[in-house]
Amino acid sequence: RWAAAAGPRRVLLASPRSFCAGVERAIEIVERALDRFGAPVYVRKQIVHNIHVVRDLERRGAVFVDDLAEVPEGAVTVFSAHGVAPAVREEAGRRGLRVVDATCPLVAKVHAEARRFAARGDLVVLIGHAGHEEVEGVLGEVPGAGVLVEDEAGVADAAQNVPWGRGVAYLTQTTLAADEAGRVAAAIRRRFPDAEGPRGDDICYATTNRQHAVRAVAAQADLVLVVGSANSSNALRLTEVAARQAPLARLIDDPGDIALDWLRGARTVGLTAGASTPGAMVDAVVAALGGLGPLEVEERRVTEENVEFTLPKEVRP
Ligand code: SF4
Repeated sequence: RWAAAAGPRRVLLASPRSFCAGVERAIEIVERALDRFGAPVYVRKQIVHNIHVVRDLERRGAVFVDDLAEVPEGAVTVFSAHGVAPAVREEAGRRGLRVVDATCPLVAKVHAEARRFAARGDLVVLIGHAGHEEVEGVLGEVPGAGVLVEDEAGVADAAQNVPWGRGVAYLTQTTLAADEAGRVAAAIRRRFPDAEGPRGDDICYATTNRQHAVRAVAAQADLVLVVGSANSSNALRLTEVAARQAPLARLIDDPGDIALDWLRGARTVGLTAGASTPGAMVDAVVAALGGLGPLEVEERRVTEENVEFTLPKEVRP
């Protein structure tokens, strides 16, 4: 199997890939909180959806919890990049937790839009994936006035629950596949011609750019490897987008997940990483492929990124 998987091969590195500005900021917030307040720093949920990031911060003194009830009264607590519902903030206030909020500003923008639509009486239809923390946070902003729609079929179901005369507005999770979300939004507009959508687009710049970039390499690849964790929405979407163009696309956490069978006959490998994946993991995959024979690495950059977000005041220098 090793012989069949051996190179030479070409690696097409999609660019942009790996960390976005929201993830860099969230990780920096935990690091700075550890420096400023000392360990332990509690983090509600995974700070970003990547197992390597979480393990690294755990080694440095971060304690990840699923529920605020696990955090001792008064402790420093970071909210993850995916955002939280107002009920979570209220609970933190009641328990006297010292909160540092790492919600990505682009997720916070979707929360604000949801509040604005609900305040004028609209039903807020959120296009997204059930169970994702971002979805729970956004719908938590509009109790009794929000509904989740996962696909085009879901639009008809949602329509049954809209009382006559009620306005409808829609929003999207930030990390969806742009083409799929566009189809669901079109279905909403067909069913509710007056429905108002977000100004511009809720799918964030990082998600959009990484999807464009993976498309550019997938079209020429025999295999696409997407480095990211299975609970990362944007990494999953990258894998799906790649699979629509390349013969094979697989999501891996690190080189240890690569099956030699995938590499048989794969002379050109497209490589990218989700917005929550450290760049070092991509380097590790390149090194592993290099161990199988001569490698030619070409970067395919579709755009430059220069987005930066400011830190919250609690950890600002
Ligand atoms: Fe923010 Fe987009 Fe990064 Fe999520 S993927 S943290 S919304 S920039």
